[in-house]
Formats: sequence, structure tokens, C-alpha cells
Amino acid sequence: MWLRPNLSQAWGTIMKYNILLVDDDPGMIQVLARVLSGLGSMRFATDGETALAMARESVPDLVLLDAEMPNINGYKVCQTMKATPELADVPVIFITSHAHTDYEVAALALGAADFISKPICEPLLLARVKTQLRLKQAIDELRRISTVDALTEISNRRRFDELLEREWQRSLRASNPLALLLMDIDHFKLFNDRYGHPAGDACLRSVAAVLRDACMRPADDVARIGGEEFALLLPQTTLAGAEKVARRVMARVESLAIPHESSPTAGHVTVSVGLAYFGNNCVRRMPHADPRVDDGIRRHDNASDLVKCADQALYAAKRAGRSQAWRLAFDNVNVPDQARKIARLHLAVPLRETA
Ligand code: GH3
Ligand code: MG
Ligand code: MG
Ligand code: MG
Repeated sequence: MWLRPNLSQAWGTIMKYNILLVDDDPGMIQVLARVLSGLGSMRFATDGETALAMARESVPDLVLLDAEMPNINGYKVCQTMKATPELADVPVIFITSHAHTDYEVAALALGAADFISKPICEPLLLARVKTQLRLKQAIDELRRISTVDALTEISNRRRFDELLEREWQRSLRASNPLALLLMDIDHFKLFNDRYGHPAGDACLRSVAAVLRDACMRPADDVARIGGEEFALLLPQTTLAGAEKVARRVMARVESLAIPHESSPTAGHVTVSVGLAYFGNNCVRRMPHADPRVDDGIRRHDNASDLVKCADQALYAAKRAGRSQAWRLAFDNVNVPDQARKIARLHLAVPLRETA
């Protein structure tokens, strides 16, 4: 006797998934939708082109794909998905009337996750879809863990390096400015010594939350890149804008008013900030560039020079007494003496945050 397993029980906490059903036979789509109802939201496409457009518009968690369709068939759709970075990791289950193993091998070779033959065996379809969704959930979680800092839940160093490289390339291509703030908590070793490591961890979480809130634009990103060191990447941001963010960051950390009685700088936790900026005038034609071999854009510069630049500005801020922000233009990466003070907080005038 076939015992129908209690699938909702086996499934545990049911997550709502975004599933895309693709088949040129609307009757088949109806069958699939009925069997999978309850797993999440379902979208439908009856041809390959529409399927790809829908997948790009909102990336699905799973695609059930008919192999035989007019115009763009399922194999072509799968191939295109695997060649599209944002769709490459979406699991694809082929559904086809071809039972021959050659078709199955071809689909798997294209990167399909699974292969189901028509006529559909409903319990098998449901079980296999759930297996793929579980895998997808696990992979998504792994990806999250590998890019998020466990203590503060902001981006980690790995994610920062990826974003920096991406934004650097983008700013070169589009001649957009890019700014980077490096922030380091002042006398944090003394904080740990005085209040203990758990209090140090709590302080790091509070500072991270403040920095995250200081990111106003969707493209801004804040990362913890060292023990008590943070980075704020500000794409398409001018020097004036980045200086405003630097002041805001210092003011907000200060307004947390976390006591730090051992700090020689202030009675509370403060940060020092180094700002590097890469402006429009930094991406320019070199005077003697030969257009036949070089379009003049300074391709020999790289993103790590921007970090080096911000680090030198941060060092200048520390050396000058901490709890201050200094800047260094990208062009001066090898001339750290050109670092200039932006702001010094808490000692002179009381803080007033600029809007
Ligand atoms: P400076 O003002 O020059 O930056 O001095 P500092 O004491 O902040 O810098 P230093 O590099 O000497 O010490 C950093 C300290 O940060 C050392 C370590 O105890 C602490 N730290 C690093 N990671 C963590 C962490 O995850 N949790 C806690 N609680 N402390 C950490
Ligand atoms: Mg078909
Ligand atoms: Mg420090
Ligand atoms: Mg440090």
C-alpha cells in the first residue's frame, strides 16, 4: 500500500518560495501549480523568452522547465540562465516527455538540478521539488554566512573585498567618483582590558549598528574588516558628500556615549576616520598616452590603492590625536603627507551633526 507521507510535517517550517513554472501547455502548468500549491508563490510562462524575462525581473528560487517548447526550447532557456550571473545559481528541474537517458544527460550537462519525465507522478514531483528547495535554502544560508560578519551582522571582509572590486571597476567604467571611509575604534584594547571582552563585543555591535544606519543610499555598504576596524564604501559619492558621512559617523558613535574611562582621548568610545576619494579628475587621459595602445585611463591603478590611501588618512588621524577624520585624495596615495584634517570631534565644540 502506498502510504502518503505527511509532507507538511516532513517539511518542517514551510518557507514561502518563489517558483517559476514554464510549459507551452497551459494544462500542464495547471497540474504543476496544483501539486506545488502551498510551497510559495507561483508564476507562469508559456514560452522561453517570457520565462527569461520573468526570471530576470524577480529571481526565482526554482524553475520547472518544459524541455520542448516552440522558439526557445527549455535547453536554450537553461543555457541562458546558467550564463547569466544573477540566474546561474537558480535550480532548474526539467520536465519532459522524453524518457531516454540521453535527454536526461544533456539536461544535467547544461547545469539542470534534476529531470522529471512526463507523465508526472505527483508525489515524486513534490518530493523532488522539495529536495531542490531545501538545497537552495541551505546554499543561500551558506552564502549569507560567508559574506556576513557573525558578531555584528554587517558585511565581512570577504564581502567588502568583492564589493570594493565591483564598485572600483564600475567607477572606472562610468567615470564616477568613489569614496571609502575606514574607521577604527580608539583605544579599544584598553576598553577590553577595563570592561571585559563581552562588553567589547557589545560595543562593536553598537558601533556597527550606528555605521549601518549612517549608510543612506542603497549602494552604500558597511563592513567589519578587522577586529575593531570598519569600512564604509560610498559609490558615486563626491568628496563633500563623503566628508559629511565621516562627520555623521563620528557624531553618532560619540552620541552612543559608551563609557570608556581608560581612554586617554575621551571619557567615552570614539572612532578615528580615514577617508580616501577617487574623483572624476582621477580618471583622466594621461597627457602622453598613445591612443593606439592605451586609451589613457589609468588601468594600472587598483582598488587596493584606495584602501591604502584611506589607511594612510586613518593613520594620520590616529597620529594627530584620535577622534578625528582625515582625508587623502587618491592621486596622493604615495604622498601621505598630503593628508588633511576634516574634523575633530568632542574636544573643542560640542557635536552638532550636519544633515
Ligand atoms: P588605537 O586607538 O591605536 O586603534 O588603539 P587600539 O587599542 O584600539 O588598537 P590595537 O590594535 O592595539 O587593539 C585592538 C584591540 O581590539 C585588540 C583586541 O583586544 C580588540 N579586539 C579585536 N577584535 C575584537 C573582538 O572581536 N571583540 C573584542 N571584544 N575585542 C576585539
Ligand atoms: Mg512542451
Ligand atoms: Mg583601534
Ligand atoms: Mg585597529
